[in-house]
Amino acid sequence: MKSIIRLRDFCRGERDWLLATVEALVRLESPTTDKTAVDRCGAELASRLQAIGGNVTRLSRPDRGDHLLTEFGCGASQILLLGHFDTVWPVGQLDRMPLTRVDGRLHGPGVFDMKAGIAIAMLATRALVETGTPFSRRIVMLWTTDEEIGSGTSRAAIEDEARRSDAVFVLEPSLPGGAVKTSRKGCGGYEVIVRGVAAHAGIEPQRGASAVQELAHQILRINALQDLDRGISVNVVQVSGGLRSNVIPDEARATVDVRVPSAAAASEVDAAFRGLRPVDPRTSVESSGGMDRPPLERTAEVERLYKRARAIAGGLGLHLEEGGTGGGSDGNFTAALGIPTLDGLGAIGDGAHARHEHVDIESLPDRAALVAGLLADLKD
Ligand SMILES: [Zn+2]
Repeated sequence: MKSIIRLRDFCRGERDWLLATVEALVRLESPTTDKTAVDRCGAELASRLQAIGGNVTRLSRPDRGDHLLTEFGCGASQILLLGHFDTVWPVGQLDRMPLTRVDGRLHGPGVFDMKAGIAIAMLATRALVETGTPFSRRIVMLWTTDEEIGSGTSRAAIEDEARRSDAVFVLEPSLPGGAVKTSRKGCGGYEVIVRGVAAHAGIEPQRGASAVQELAHQILRINALQDLDRGISVNVVQVSGGLRSNVIPDEARATVDVRVPSAAAASEVDAAFRGLRPVDPRTSVESSGGMDRPPLERTAEVERLYKRARAIAGGLGLHLEEGGTGGGSDGNFTAALGIPTLDGLGAIGDGAHARHEHVDIESLPDRAALVAGLLADLKD
């Protein structure tokens, strides 16, 4: 108990450092698709990581921002702290969502998802080092740059580091009120392409087979795959079809968003997409896609990590809840490898991907103390 209070007091005393770190990162806007901007934010983050004693390696990527891998300490085994510094906001969003502190909240693009989470992890590490709290495992941080578009250039590095780790703590935003995430749905998508027969819509419509009409049939079938009681959501989110106003369309496409709670549900949905057959035999239906992120399932190992976090939070006088979410994160990849993963350890706030994005300032230092407690070998 004494150690966690010491960590908490250290983190509370560094509140201004924590806020200055978050603000410096938010000021350097970093939309996933703008490498120059993301690397500018990464350079600032790298120098701040070095300043607190981290050994930083830049994982260069030609088309995306460079990912940052940072090590602290020298234990034989390691714990991974995982997150991303890309955001969904374009450069210039700061003018529309200025970095402001109002009523105990810090507002700004990317503050909640998830630049505050990075600063929390940094303060947690500082707390261990600077209070002399023992930690026997190496602390490895991996801050990536393409989480918001599916982690195409970071997944391999995330999985490599996870395999070397005894546990993974993901600094993504918490659930409302601070709950950590012990399950996440797997997410994926499909593209369905229907091909029909074009014909003049006025002169000989009977010779056409409308791809748009066929797609309409298929959309109803696809929507029927949704089973919210079982946590399966399937939604057609984009459609296109037809080229001209007087031509029966010979092609139509739909993009479908899919969320599933388990690997079993993922294969069930996948089989349904592979099995789509046309209603009008003159048309054809083809689907491609699958799960981009496997589900993070609440295994016994995940539950064990949560219970440890809850006990540490108890020592801080906090009640730590758990919950699930339909949104995916890089924690889905590490959990699917069987590495114990606890997600949502980042900031308490609201408005990820929304104009009211903010974090609750007063909660941040204790959140860092919680993460520090998870990293430390607390005995008392
Ligand atoms: Zn995020």
